[in-house]
Amino acid sequence: MNKPASVPGHFDAVVVGAGFSGLYMLYRLRQLGLSVKVFDSADDVGGTWYWNRYPGARCDIPTTDYTYSFDPELEKEWTWSEKYATQPEILEYLRFVADRHGLRSDIEFSTAVTSARWDEPEQRWRITTDRGKEIRCRYYIMATGCLSMPKSPDIEGAGRFAGQVYFTSRWPHEGADFTGQRVAVIGTGSSGIQSIPLIARQARQLTVFQRTANFSIPAHNGPAPADRLEQLDVGRDAYRHAARWSRGGVPLEPTDVLGVTASESVRRERFEAAWEQGELFGILNVFADQGVNPASNDIVAEMIREKIRSAVKDPETAEALCPKDHYFGTKRPCLDTGYFETYNLPHVRLVDLRKQPIVSITEDGIETADESFGFDAIVYATGFDAMTGALVAADVAGQDGLSLKEKWAAGPSTYLGLMTAGFPNFFMLTGPGSPSVLSNMTVSIEQHVDWVARCLEDMCEEGLETIEPTALAEAGWDQHVQDCGAITLYPTANSWYMGANVPGKPRVFLPYIGGVDAYRQACDEVASQDYLGFRMTGPGGDRCRDGVVRSMQPDVAMVLEFVAALGLPPMETLSDADARALMAATAEGRPPGPELGEVTDGVIPGPAGDLPYRLYRPGGPSGRPRPLVVYFHGGGWVLGNLDSDDPLCRDLCARSGAVVMSVNYRHAPEVRFPAAVLDAFAAVQWADANATELGGIPGQLAVAGWSAGANVAAVACQLARDAAGPRISGQLLICPVVDSDMTRPSYEENGDGYILTTALMRWFWDHYADPADRGDPRAAPLRGDLEGLPPACIVAADFDPLRDEGVAYARALEAAGVPVRLARARGHTHTSVTMVDVVISGAPVRAGIGEALRDFFPSAELQEQVS
Ligand code: NAP
Repeated sequence: MNKPASVPGHFDAVVVGAGFSGLYMLYRLRQLGLSVKVFDSADDVGGTWYWNRYPGARCDIPTTDYTYSFDPELEKEWTWSEKYATQPEILEYLRFVADRHGLRSDIEFSTAVTSARWDEPEQRWRITTDRGKEIRCRYYIMATGCLSMPKSPDIEGAGRFAGQVYFTSRWPHEGADFTGQRVAVIGTGSSGIQSIPLIARQARQLTVFQRTANFSIPAHNGPAPADRLEQLDVGRDAYRHAARWSRGGVPLEPTDVLGVTASESVRRERFEAAWEQGELFGILNVFADQGVNPASNDIVAEMIREKIRSAVKDPETAEALCPKDHYFGTKRPCLDTGYFETYNLPHVRLVDLRKQPIVSITEDGIETADESFGFDAIVYATGFDAMTGALVAADVAGQDGLSLKEKWAAGPSTYLGLMTAGFPNFFMLTGPGSPSVLSNMTVSIEQHVDWVARCLEDMCEEGLETIEPTALAEAGWDQHVQDCGAITLYPTANSWYMGANVPGKPRVFLPYIGGVDAYRQACDEVASQDYLGFRMTGPGGDRCRDGVVRSMQPDVAMVLEFVAALGLPPMETLSDADARALMAATAEGRPPGPELGEVTDGVIPGPAGDLPYRLYRPGGPSGRPRPLVVYFHGGGWVLGNLDSDDPLCRDLCARSGAVVMSVNYRHAPEVRFPAAVLDAFAAVQWADANATELGGIPGQLAVAGWSAGANVAAVACQLARDAAGPRISGQLLICPVVDSDMTRPSYEENGDGYILTTALMRWFWDHYADPADRGDPRAAPLRGDLEGLPPACIVAADFDPLRDEGVAYARALEAAGVPVRLARARGHTHTSVTMVDVVISGAPVRAGIGEALRDFFPSAELQEQVS
């Protein structure tokens, strides 16, 4: 790589922070032969473990895992004394690492970086420090940690208190002696929960001011678990590899037990085992669905509340300590040693700030709405401006002088949590948009550092000197980070993950929750695809392969992985009977969809015999007439029936408030084109004529369908127009087949791998219609006359071969003067939008569909009923 810079004040890289990430970054950059300067405002290494010296401070990931893995010799030479090491021991470890690798010589302690400016002509960062130094470097790397910027105490009168004031995050090196004192602790997050039992041992009187009760489980600290040590002894490399490719950075088999369906004894057994184990990832893995399903989450939450009630003797205090305002896990759960039992001590009292908020800190204590308290010392355990605080406070300005603070005014925007557009050669370690705080930090830190080091090495080899993400790649990643969060319960909490603890901070889900493994995969893909989404320049040329690394909804990707793992034969290789049986089998065991007021089956006369139908009525006053939607199921005219689309019909009914009548039609190949469309049209006519008997409102009729069902629905609208009736208020076409032309780009892009394939579509067409008939508008409604058709809502999914024909139909309808609502199902496949209660990210799309259905009807009453 580059030779070490020889010009004084010039370095290849400047790193801010000498904690876990800064130390390892320095080590790796040195390995590359780069000249490096590390700055830290502390007078020693340690980062978070330098500052957070409060009594009881420990890690909350077992130290067998919360440790560097890059140096096998180091692993042999250092033995952790406990399952969860204390702050002094972790600090000692980092000192040991720094000394072992001679890292201190490149670190300038007691020096803070005060500003960093990108110098475009020079293609260098200009760094200034609080010691008046100015330094130039090519790469600027913030290794400042996620929880390093203490939140200022946003409490009235905070500066007035005349007694001793302590912050858990800035604890004095000489410690604090509370013997004989009246002490207040404000805050019951991890720092408060760890320190309170130890402060209680010294204080004469301890009063804890709690705004939000927090979930905490006993750490069961002691020697490192024997089974873990054994795994490491037997195969350390394999263990570390498993950690790197795990969800959280600690090897753990994700459970597939669902809380909502598990028996009471299984629930209890799994919970008690996790409770006994005393590990965060264990208690977050009691049920597979506890992070996404409120009912499942509540099972775990209630069992923890039971534990709290049995630990705390005073029922009123116990109840106040029971968290009830957020789902378990959506705020960082704590690990404790004797926390809840501390409240049984006669000199310890809990003040519930929800009942009596703090009015002001006074000179000699704290005044709440109901009481005045006198104290000798106040301990603030009030947390941090997490994940972005240290970064935006650092006065970093990129191209055109834009500061990071300005760029992130509405929330952080990053590519992979590593870089941000407009800030060339500026790297963040464990930045927002990376797994960071949701993972074992040491594993995430090593991954980030290794990625950055590899990137710089690759650039050097190619003669490239600057790198920055493109706007497209960054926007795509930001969206993916939010999509991953949105399918979980996490964004519902007022947590620091959401920036909710800092007044005025934008409410954005900050970390990446897709998992350490998925994240590593994405980073590796980016690197191996010529640094997809990065623009790189230098003597070696300018290059940019622009693109988005993840644009599929995360739960859709999971479904595809699951289906691929089943190894099912392609549908088009099966006999018709086997294909139908396979479709029926895949529908078994899926969630049933919402409960409704009434679901009844019947038959109506069709052109060539009876047609079965199922009628869905929403809840609410029975007998009240409602608009009627006639629905046709999907399945390529070959597969499907009333059962196949049952959850979707329930969902459409619940969301629209309309009566939904799902009608079966004759299938190919037994009966080919145009039987299906003739049946569909007959069903629409019958429904219109019998609207009152069906509980509908005469004259308020829409048609709907998914896939081939949307094809027959669209054709039914054209036939109704041509026959001058019935009058149809709207057509809902979900991922419709509207043309037989299979050459559109979406067939090329999505023709394989997303369940509905080009081969399967061809099979469907071959079953349904002779080639000569496939241009008939009754088979390909896009080719028909589109004037005078009812208003349409068309859903087009990104990863659907049929996407482009759906969009084409929307455009053609619009051109013909038909009002159209085109709903793009971003990140979805042909089937995923219909997977009710399986693919959570489909719910907002279906909410939009429900709204579109309601908009078809003039009935204000319907709008009111549903809203
Ligand atoms: P925290 O989780 O943000 O907790 C801060 C506490 O202070 C909360 O109870 C908060 O209440 C309360 N608070 C904040 N402002 C307040 C105000 N104006 N009035 C009254 N109460 C107020 O901070 P933390 O305990 O320092 O922990 C932060 C994170 O650091 C943890 O979640 C964890 O990731 C990490 N950490 C880990 C360990 C460990 O075990 N290894 C130890 C310490 C910290 P609200 O909830 O109502 O905002």
